[in-house]
Amino acid sequence: MKKSCKIAVLPGDGIGPEIMKSALKVLEAISEKYGIQFEFKEALVGGAAIDETGDPLPEETLKLCKESDAILFGAVGGEKWDNLPTDKRPEKGLLRIRKELDLFANLRPAKAYNALLDSSPLKNSIIKGVDLLVLRELTGGIYFGEPRGIEEKNGERVGYNTMIYYEHEIKRIGKLAFELARSRRKKVTSVDKANVLEVSALWREVITEVHNDYADVELEHMYVDNCAMQLIRRPKDFDVIVTGNMFGDIISDEAGALTGSLGMLPSASIGERYAFYEPIHGSAPDIAGKGIANPVAMILSAAMMLEITCKLPEAARDIEEAVDKALEEGYRTTDIWSPGTKKVSTEEMTEVIINHIKQS
Ligand code: NAD
Repeated sequence: MKKSCKIAVLPGDGIGPEIMKSALKVLEAISEKYGIQFEFKEALVGGAAIDETGDPLPEETLKLCKESDAILFGAVGGEKWDNLPTDKRPEKGLLRIRKELDLFANLRPAKAYNALLDSSPLKNSIIKGVDLLVLRELTGGIYFGEPRGIEEKNGERVGYNTMIYYEHEIKRIGKLAFELARSRRKKVTSVDKANVLEVSALWREVITEVHNDYADVELEHMYVDNCAMQLIRRPKDFDVIVTGNMFGDIISDEAGALTGSLGMLPSASIGERYAFYEPIHGSAPDIAGKGIANPVAMILSAAMMLEITCKLPEAARDIEEAVDKALEEGYRTTDIWSPGTKKVSTEEMTEVIINHIKQS
Protein backbone atom coordinates (compact mmCIF):
# COMPACT_ATOMS: atom_id res chain seq x y z
CA MET A 1 0.00 0.00 0.00
CA LYS A 2 1.14 3.54 -0.74
CA LYS A 3 1.07 5.86 2.29
CA SER A 4 -0.19 8.77 0.23
CA CYS A 5 -1.63 9.42 -3.21
CA LYS A 6 -1.76 12.68 -5.16
CA ILE A 7 -5.00 12.75 -7.10
CA ALA A 8 -5.97 15.21 -9.84
CA VAL A 9 -9.73 15.65 -9.61
CA LEU A 10 -11.42 16.67 -12.88
CA PRO A 11 -15.21 16.73 -12.37
CA GLY A 12 -16.06 18.18 -15.82
CA ASP A 13 -19.64 18.89 -16.89
CA GLY A 14 -23.23 17.72 -16.42
CA ILE A 15 -23.46 15.05 -13.72
CA GLY A 16 -19.64 14.98 -13.50
CA PRO A 17 -19.42 17.23 -10.39
CA GLU A 18 -22.29 15.37 -8.63
CA ILE A 19 -20.83 11.89 -9.02
CA MET A 20 -17.31 13.14 -8.30
CA LYS A 21 -18.53 14.46 -4.94
CA SER A 22 -19.76 10.93 -4.16
CA ALA A 23 -16.43 9.33 -5.12
CA LEU A 24 -14.46 11.79 -2.98
CA LYS A 25 -16.70 11.10 0.04
CA VAL A 26 -16.11 7.36 -0.41
CA LEU A 27 -12.35 7.95 -0.64
CA GLU A 28 -12.47 9.98 2.58
CA ALA A 29 -14.08 6.99 4.31
CA ILE A 30 -11.35 4.74 2.89
CA SER A 31 -8.69 7.18 4.10
CA GLU A 32 -10.10 7.02 7.65
CA LYS A 33 -10.32 3.24 7.59
CA TYR A 34 -6.92 2.42 6.09
CA GLY A 35 -4.85 5.47 7.07
CA ILE A 36 -3.90 6.29 3.48
CA GLN A 37 -3.56 10.03 2.83
CA PHE A 38 -5.08 11.51 -0.32
CA GLU A 39 -4.06 14.88 -1.65
CA PHE A 40 -6.91 16.00 -3.89
CA LYS A 41 -6.36 18.91 -6.31
CA GLU A 42 -9.23 19.96 -8.53
CA ALA A 43 -8.91 21.39 -12.04
CA LEU A 44 -11.10 22.43 -14.95
CA VAL A 45 -11.75 20.28 -18.00
CA GLY A 46 -14.30 20.12 -20.83
CA GLY A 47 -17.08 22.67 -21.13
CA ALA A 48 -16.39 24.11 -17.67
CA ALA A 49 -12.81 24.82 -18.80
CA ILE A 50 -13.98 26.32 -22.12
CA ASP A 51 -16.24 28.75 -20.24
CA GLU A 52 -13.37 29.90 -17.99
CA THR A 53 -10.37 29.77 -20.32
CA GLY A 54 -11.53 29.04 -23.89
CA ASP A 55 -9.62 25.72 -23.86
CA PRO A 56 -11.12 22.27 -22.97
CA LEU A 57 -7.75 21.21 -21.53
CA PRO A 58 -5.96 24.26 -20.05
CA GLU A 59 -2.16 23.98 -19.59
CA GLU A 60 -2.66 24.21 -15.82
CA THR A 61 -4.92 21.12 -15.83
CA LEU A 62 -2.48 19.09 -17.91
CA LYS A 63 0.37 20.13 -15.60
CA LEU A 64 -1.61 19.01 -12.56
CA CYS A 65 -2.35 15.63 -14.23
CA LYS A 66 1.36 15.12 -14.93
CA GLU A 67 2.27 15.92 -11.31
CA SER A 68 -0.30 13.49 -9.88
CA ASP A 69 -0.24 9.74 -9.19
CA ALA A 70 -3.70 9.33 -10.66
CA ILE A 71 -6.43 11.29 -12.37
CA LEU A 72 -10.09 10.94 -11.44
CA PHE A 73 -12.32 12.16 -14.25
CA GLY A 74 -16.10 12.72 -14.20
CA ALA A 75 -17.54 13.39 -17.65
CA VAL A 76 -17.54 16.19 -20.21
CA GLY A 77 -19.85 17.65 -22.81
CA GLY A 78 -23.27 19.21 -23.21
CA GLU A 79 -25.55 20.99 -25.63
CA LYS A 80 -24.11 24.41 -24.74
CA TRP A 81 -20.81 23.50 -26.45
CA ASP A 82 -22.20 21.29 -29.25
CA ASN A 83 -21.82 23.91 -31.97
CA LEU A 84 -18.15 24.66 -31.39
CA PRO A 85 -15.63 23.45 -33.99
CA THR A 86 -14.49 19.84 -33.33
CA ASP A 87 -11.05 20.77 -31.97
CA LYS A 88 -12.57 23.26 -29.48
CA ARG A 89 -15.26 20.92 -28.08
CA PRO A 90 -15.22 19.53 -24.50
CA GLU A 91 -14.57 15.94 -25.68
CA LYS A 92 -11.30 17.15 -27.24
CA GLY A 93 -10.00 17.77 -23.70
CA LEU A 94 -10.46 14.10 -22.88
CA LEU A 95 -8.82 12.87 -26.11
CA ARG A 96 -5.85 15.19 -25.53
CA ILE A 97 -5.32 13.92 -21.97
CA ARG A 98 -5.26 10.30 -23.21
CA LYS A 99 -2.72 11.20 -25.90
CA GLU A 100 -0.52 13.48 -23.76
CA LEU A 101 -0.27 10.88 -20.98
CA ASP A 102 0.34 7.99 -23.41
CA LEU A 103 -2.37 5.84 -21.85
CA PHE A 104 -1.86 2.68 -23.88
CA ALA A 105 -4.22 0.33 -22.06
CA ASN A 106 -7.94 0.63 -21.42
CA LEU A 107 -9.48 -1.59 -18.75
CA ARG A 108 -13.21 -2.13 -18.70
CA PRO A 109 -14.62 -4.59 -16.20
CA ALA A 110 -18.12 -5.96 -16.75
CA LYS A 111 -19.72 -7.66 -13.79
CA ALA A 112 -23.24 -8.99 -13.38
CA TYR A 113 -24.78 -8.01 -10.05
CA ASN A 114 -27.23 -10.61 -8.76
CA ALA A 115 -29.62 -7.85 -7.74
CA LEU A 116 -29.66 -6.42 -11.27
CA LEU A 117 -29.85 -9.56 -13.39
CA ASP A 118 -33.18 -8.46 -14.82
CA SER A 119 -31.57 -5.33 -16.36
CA SER A 120 -29.52 -7.54 -18.67
CA PRO A 121 -30.80 -8.26 -22.18
CA LEU A 122 -29.67 -11.87 -21.63
CA LYS A 123 -31.41 -14.66 -19.70
CA ASN A 124 -30.59 -14.75 -15.96
CA SER A 125 -29.04 -18.21 -16.28
CA ILE A 126 -26.54 -16.92 -18.87
CA ILE A 127 -25.62 -13.62 -17.22
CA LYS A 128 -25.47 -14.75 -13.57
CA GLY A 129 -21.86 -14.95 -12.38
CA VAL A 130 -20.34 -12.96 -15.27
CA ASP A 131 -17.19 -11.15 -14.13
CA LEU A 132 -14.84 -10.24 -16.96
CA LEU A 133 -12.35 -7.56 -17.91
CA VAL A 134 -11.78 -6.25 -21.42
CA LEU A 135 -8.25 -4.93 -21.90
CA ARG A 136 -8.03 -2.84 -25.06
CA GLU A 137 -4.84 -1.50 -26.62
CA LEU A 138 -5.54 2.23 -26.86
CA THR A 139 -2.76 4.10 -28.65
CA GLY A 140 -1.93 1.94 -31.69
CA GLY A 141 -3.62 -0.12 -34.37
CA ILE A 142 -5.86 1.04 -37.19
CA TYR A 143 -7.09 4.20 -35.44
CA PHE A 144 -3.60 5.72 -35.58
CA GLY A 145 -1.83 3.82 -38.41
CA GLU A 146 -0.33 5.69 -41.39
CA PRO A 147 -0.88 6.03 -44.28
CA ARG A 148 -4.54 6.93 -44.09
CA GLY A 149 -6.83 9.10 -46.16
CA ILE A 150 -9.38 9.52 -48.90
CA GLU A 151 -8.17 10.28 -52.43
CA GLU A 152 -9.00 9.97 -56.11
CA LYS A 153 -7.75 6.92 -57.94
CA ASN A 154 -8.78 5.63 -61.36
CA GLY A 155 -11.56 8.20 -61.57
CA GLU A 156 -13.23 7.40 -58.22
CA ARG A 157 -12.68 8.07 -54.51
CA VAL A 158 -10.81 5.56 -52.40
CA GLY A 159 -10.58 5.51 -48.60
CA TYR A 160 -7.89 3.62 -46.69
CA ASN A 161 -6.39 3.06 -43.24
CA THR A 162 -3.44 1.07 -41.97
CA MET A 163 -3.71 -1.52 -39.24
CA ILE A 164 -0.26 -1.68 -37.72
CA TYR A 165 1.20 -3.05 -34.48
CA TYR A 166 4.83 -3.04 -33.42
CA GLU A 167 6.07 -5.99 -31.42
CA HIS A 168 6.77 -3.79 -28.36
CA GLU A 169 3.18 -2.52 -28.37
CA ILE A 170 1.81 -6.08 -28.35
CA LYS A 171 4.30 -7.17 -25.70
CA ARG A 172 3.42 -4.45 -23.18
CA ILE A 173 -0.36 -4.98 -23.45
CA GLY A 174 0.15 -8.77 -23.36
CA LYS A 175 2.23 -8.55 -20.17
CA LEU A 176 -0.39 -6.38 -18.54
CA ALA A 177 -3.11 -8.89 -19.48
CA PHE A 178 -1.25 -11.77 -17.82
CA GLU A 179 -0.43 -9.67 -14.75
CA LEU A 180 -4.09 -8.68 -14.36
CA ALA A 181 -5.22 -12.28 -14.87
CA ARG A 182 -2.95 -13.38 -12.02
CA SER A 183 -5.05 -11.39 -9.52
CA ARG A 184 -8.28 -12.73 -11.07
CA ARG A 185 -9.22 -16.22 -12.35
CA LYS A 186 -5.94 -16.71 -14.27
CA LYS A 187 -7.30 -16.93 -17.79
CA VAL A 188 -6.52 -14.71 -20.79
CA THR A 189 -8.43 -14.77 -24.07
CA SER A 190 -6.47 -12.99 -26.80
CA VAL A 191 -8.75 -11.77 -29.57
CA ASP A 192 -7.60 -11.22 -33.15
CA LYS A 193 -8.38 -11.98 -36.78
CA ALA A 194 -5.27 -14.06 -37.47
CA ASN A 195 -6.98 -16.12 -40.19
CA VAL A 196 -7.14 -13.02 -42.42
CA LEU A 197 -4.77 -10.30 -41.15
CA GLU A 198 -0.96 -10.41 -40.97
CA VAL A 199 -0.99 -7.86 -38.14
CA SER A 200 -3.18 -10.31 -36.20
CA ALA A 201 -0.87 -13.23 -37.00
CA LEU A 202 1.97 -11.25 -35.42
CA TRP A 203 -0.30 -10.31 -32.47
CA ARG A 204 -1.01 -14.02 -31.85
CA GLU A 205 2.67 -14.95 -32.13
CA VAL A 206 3.87 -12.25 -29.72
CA ILE A 207 1.11 -12.92 -27.14
CA THR A 208 2.08 -16.62 -27.23
CA GLU A 209 5.73 -15.66 -26.62
CA VAL A 210 4.82 -13.39 -23.70
CA HIS A 211 2.78 -16.25 -22.24
CA ASN A 212 6.01 -18.27 -21.78
CA ASP A 213 6.67 -16.16 -18.66
CA TYR A 214 3.19 -16.79 -17.25
CA ALA A 215 2.78 -20.57 -17.16
CA ASP A 216 0.31 -20.25 -14.25
CA VAL A 217 -2.15 -18.36 -16.48
CA GLU A 218 -4.25 -20.13 -19.12
CA LEU A 219 -4.13 -18.59 -22.61
CA GLU A 220 -6.66 -19.09 -25.39
CA HIS A 221 -6.75 -17.38 -28.79
CA MET A 222 -10.06 -16.47 -30.35
CA TYR A 223 -11.09 -14.82 -33.62
CA VAL A 224 -12.97 -11.58 -33.02
CA ASP A 225 -16.14 -12.73 -34.82
CA ASN A 226 -16.29 -15.84 -32.65
CA CYS A 227 -15.61 -13.75 -29.53
CA ALA A 228 -18.54 -11.44 -30.35
CA MET A 229 -20.76 -14.54 -30.51
CA GLN A 230 -19.37 -16.34 -27.43
CA LEU A 231 -19.80 -13.20 -25.33
CA ILE A 232 -23.53 -13.57 -25.86
CA ARG A 233 -23.67 -17.38 -25.61
CA ARG A 234 -21.32 -18.08 -22.68
CA PRO A 235 -20.01 -14.79 -21.16
CA LYS A 236 -19.18 -16.56 -17.87
CA ASP A 237 -16.28 -18.38 -19.51
CA PHE A 238 -14.28 -15.17 -20.00
CA ASP A 239 -11.90 -13.68 -17.45
CA VAL A 240 -9.44 -11.23 -19.11
CA ILE A 241 -9.97 -10.47 -22.80
CA VAL A 242 -6.99 -8.72 -24.43
CA THR A 243 -7.25 -7.22 -27.88
CA GLY A 244 -6.23 -4.39 -30.20
CA ASN A 245 -7.71 -0.93 -30.48
CA MET A 246 -10.58 -1.42 -32.96
CA PHE A 247 -11.65 -4.91 -31.87
CA GLY A 248 -11.47 -3.70 -28.26
CA ASP A 249 -13.62 -0.68 -29.01
CA ILE A 250 -16.42 -2.95 -30.22
CA ILE A 251 -15.99 -5.87 -27.79
CA SER A 252 -15.82 -3.59 -24.73
CA ASP A 253 -19.13 -1.94 -25.64
CA GLU A 254 -20.70 -5.34 -26.20
CA ALA A 255 -19.40 -6.60 -22.84
CA GLY A 256 -20.70 -3.45 -21.11
CA ALA A 257 -24.16 -3.90 -22.61
CA LEU A 258 -24.37 -7.48 -21.28
CA THR A 259 -24.79 -6.33 -17.72
CA GLY A 260 -27.38 -3.61 -18.16
CA SER A 261 -26.88 -0.12 -16.81
CA LEU A 262 -24.47 2.51 -18.06
CA GLY A 263 -24.41 4.07 -14.58
CA MET A 264 -22.68 0.99 -13.12
CA LEU A 265 -19.62 0.67 -15.40
CA PRO A 266 -16.18 1.98 -14.38
CA SER A 267 -12.98 2.11 -16.42
CA ALA A 268 -9.27 2.80 -16.19
CA SER A 269 -6.77 3.88 -18.82
CA ILE A 270 -3.17 3.35 -17.90
CA GLY A 271 0.28 4.03 -19.31
CA GLU A 272 3.86 3.47 -18.15
CA ARG A 273 3.69 6.50 -15.84
CA TYR A 274 0.12 7.78 -15.57
CA ALA A 275 -3.27 6.32 -14.74
CA PHE A 276 -6.67 7.77 -15.49
CA TYR A 277 -9.97 6.60 -14.00
CA GLU A 278 -13.45 7.46 -15.31
CA PRO A 279 -16.96 6.05 -15.60
CA ILE A 280 -17.77 4.90 -19.13
CA HIS A 281 -20.91 7.01 -19.38
CA GLY A 282 -21.09 10.64 -20.51
CA SER A 283 -22.22 13.82 -18.76
CA ALA A 284 -25.94 12.86 -18.89
CA PRO A 285 -27.17 16.45 -19.40
CA ASP A 286 -30.79 15.26 -19.27
CA ILE A 287 -30.51 14.56 -15.52
CA ALA A 288 -27.71 16.96 -14.52
CA GLY A 289 -28.39 19.04 -11.39
CA LYS A 290 -31.35 16.89 -10.30
CA GLY A 291 -29.42 14.88 -7.71
CA ILE A 292 -30.55 11.57 -9.22
CA ALA A 293 -27.44 10.40 -11.12
CA ASN A 294 -26.12 6.94 -10.32
CA PRO A 295 -22.76 7.47 -8.58
CA VAL A 296 -21.71 3.78 -8.73
CA ALA A 297 -19.66 3.86 -11.98
CA MET A 298 -17.66 6.80 -10.60
CA ILE A 299 -17.26 5.16 -7.18
CA LEU A 300 -16.11 1.90 -8.79
CA SER A 301 -13.64 3.88 -10.93
CA ALA A 302 -12.18 5.19 -7.66
CA ALA A 303 -12.02 1.57 -6.45
CA MET A 304 -9.99 0.67 -9.54
CA MET A 305 -7.65 3.54 -8.66
CA LEU A 306 -7.22 2.18 -5.14
CA GLU A 307 -6.29 -1.22 -6.50
CA ILE A 308 -4.05 -0.22 -9.42
CA THR A 309 -2.42 3.06 -8.38
CA CYS A 310 -2.65 3.05 -4.58
CA LYS A 311 -1.91 -0.71 -4.30
CA LEU A 312 -4.76 -1.10 -1.84
CA PRO A 313 -6.80 -4.03 -3.21
CA GLU A 314 -8.52 -4.64 0.16
CA ALA A 315 -10.08 -1.18 -0.03
CA ALA A 316 -11.20 -1.81 -3.61
CA ARG A 317 -12.88 -5.06 -2.49
CA ASP A 318 -14.53 -3.16 0.42
CA ILE A 319 -16.10 -0.73 -2.02
CA GLU A 320 -17.24 -3.45 -4.42
CA GLU A 321 -18.81 -5.42 -1.58
CA ALA A 322 -20.49 -2.26 -0.23
CA VAL A 323 -22.03 -1.64 -3.67
CA ASP A 324 -23.19 -5.27 -3.80
CA LYS A 325 -24.82 -4.96 -0.37
CA ALA A 326 -26.55 -1.67 -1.21
CA LEU A 327 -28.06 -3.32 -4.29
CA GLU A 328 -29.00 -6.49 -2.39
CA GLU A 329 -30.87 -4.31 0.12
CA GLY A 330 -32.87 -2.87 -2.75
CA TYR A 331 -31.40 0.64 -2.98
CA ARG A 332 -31.59 1.96 -6.54
CA THR A 333 -31.03 5.27 -8.30
CA THR A 334 -33.66 6.11 -10.91
CA ASP A 335 -31.74 4.58 -13.85
CA ILE A 336 -31.75 1.09 -12.29
CA TRP A 337 -34.98 1.34 -10.32
CA SER A 338 -37.69 -1.28 -10.76
CA PRO A 339 -41.01 -1.77 -8.89
CA GLY A 340 -40.49 -3.16 -5.39
CA THR A 341 -37.07 -1.52 -4.91
CA LYS A 342 -36.22 1.68 -2.99
CA LYS A 343 -35.64 4.73 -5.14
CA VAL A 344 -32.81 6.90 -3.74
CA SER A 345 -30.92 10.05 -4.71
CA THR A 346 -27.21 10.23 -5.63
CA GLU A 347 -26.43 11.38 -2.11
CA GLU A 348 -28.50 8.69 -0.40
CA MET A 349 -26.94 5.92 -2.51
CA THR A 350 -23.50 7.26 -1.63
CA GLU A 351 -24.32 7.28 2.10
CA VAL A 352 -25.60 3.68 2.02
CA ILE A 353 -22.36 2.57 0.33
CA ILE A 354 -20.21 4.51 2.82
CA ASN A 355 -22.06 3.00 5.79
CA HIS A 356 -21.32 -0.49 4.49
CA ILE A 357 -17.64 0.39 4.01
CA LYS A 358 -17.46 1.63 7.61
CA GLN A 359 -19.21 -1.47 8.96
CA SER A 360 -17.15 -4.06 7.09
P1 NAD B 1 -24.57 9.70 -21.64
O1 NAD B 1 -23.80 8.51 -21.21
O2 NAD B 1 -24.23 10.99 -21.03
O3 NAD B 1 -26.14 9.43 -21.38
C1 NAD B 1 -26.91 8.40 -21.99
C2 NAD B 1 -28.16 8.09 -21.13
O4 NAD B 1 -27.75 7.39 -19.96
C3 NAD B 1 -28.88 9.35 -20.65
O5 NAD B 1 -30.26 9.11 -20.64
C4 NAD B 1 -28.37 9.55 -19.23
O6 NAD B 1 -29.26 10.20 -18.39
C5 NAD B 1 -28.11 8.10 -18.79
N1 NAD B 1 -26.99 8.03 -17.83
C6 NAD B 1 -25.65 8.08 -18.13
N2 NAD B 1 -24.94 8.02 -17.00
C7 NAD B 1 -25.81 7.92 -15.97
C8 NAD B 1 -25.68 7.84 -14.56
N3 NAD B 1 -24.48 7.83 -13.95
N4 NAD B 1 -26.81 7.77 -13.81
C9 NAD B 1 -28.02 7.77 -14.38
N5 NAD B 1 -28.23 7.84 -15.71
C10 NAD B 1 -27.13 7.93 -16.51
O7 NAD B 1 -24.44 9.76 -23.23
P2 NAD B 1 -24.99 10.86 -24.27
O8 NAD B 1 -26.36 11.31 -23.84
O9 NAD B 1 -24.80 10.27 -25.59
O10 NAD B 1 -23.99 12.09 -24.15
C11 NAD B 1 -24.19 13.23 -23.32
C12 NAD B 1 -22.95 14.10 -23.38
O11 NAD B 1 -21.85 13.39 -22.81
C13 NAD B 1 -22.51 14.49 -24.80
O12 NAD B 1 -22.06 15.81 -24.79
C14 NAD B 1 -21.38 13.51 -25.10
O13 NAD B 1 -20.47 14.02 -26.03
C15 NAD B 1 -20.75 13.38 -23.73
N6 NAD B 1 -19.99 12.14 -23.50
C16 NAD B 1 -18.91 12.26 -22.70
C17 NAD B 1 -18.18 11.13 -22.37
C18 NAD B 1 -17.04 11.29 -21.42
O14 NAD B 1 -16.87 12.34 -20.84
N7 NAD B 1 -16.23 10.26 -21.24
C19 NAD B 1 -18.58 9.89 -22.85
C20 NAD B 1 -19.73 9.79 -23.64
C21 NAD B 1 -20.43 10.93 -23.96
